Amino acid sequence: MITLALSKGRIFDETLPLLQEAGIRVLEDPETSRKLILPTDDPQVRVVLVRASDVPTYVQYGGADLGVTGLDTLIEHGSQGLVQPLDLRIARCRVSVAVRADYDYASAVRQGARLRVATKYVGIAREFFAAKGVHVDLIKLYGSMELAPLTGLADAIVDLVSTGNTLKANQLVEVERIMDISSRLVVNQAALKLKQPSIRRLIDAFARATAARPQA
Ligand code: AMP
Repeated sequence: MITLALSKGRIFDETLPLLQEAGIRVLEDPETSRKLILPTDDPQVRVVLVRASDVPTYVQYGGADLGVTGLDTLIEHGSQGLVQPLDLRIARCRVSVAVRADYDYASAVRQGARLRVATKYVGIAREFFAAKGVHVDLIKLYGSMELAPLTGLADAIVDLVSTGNTLKANQLVEVERIMDISSRLVVNQAALKLKQPSIRRLIDAFARATAARPQA
């Protein structure tokens, strides 16, 4: 049995067509089913639904053989025990710095001000500002980062941006692009050895499906 860890939402939705191209159909819809283990039409493959930030943990410790996770999550978690055979080029977005439209980020940085930065991505933010030589106080949040500059909790946020609509709706502007993000296939190191033929088959099918898609 091969267990694939996915998170609900964008990653699940965008992995589904890749699975289909690999000849695997998930038999239940996570939006209507309360099940956390979803069967597929391949009796040797099942999908487990976990929180996005838990996907690397499940795969690292063997709760799942493979998983799909954003590069952002992977960097924050660390890639110990994980093999990363493929960039699936799905769920694409970027990690950016954003501030209130009326906040002069450029002069704050130029003047060497100490910035308060709210983010879920503490590791990525710490490394980015350290490389720029900007002093920051990082405030860890778990969601609704956009609210932080609007309430005075922080001067800036580091968050995922896709269309930019969420920032715009909250009168925030993107001032730095830190990195491009896409989802990666991650595989448990031991499972790759022990279940070599079936995992290889899946990786190869994902690779073919990914390569066949137009570069967005
Ligand atoms: P947007 O309004 O399209 O720029 O999307 C921004 C919002 O969607 C933010 O709240 C992000 O945290 C979230 N978001 C954007 N892209 C992704 C992604 N690939 N995975 C998870 N969340 C995302």
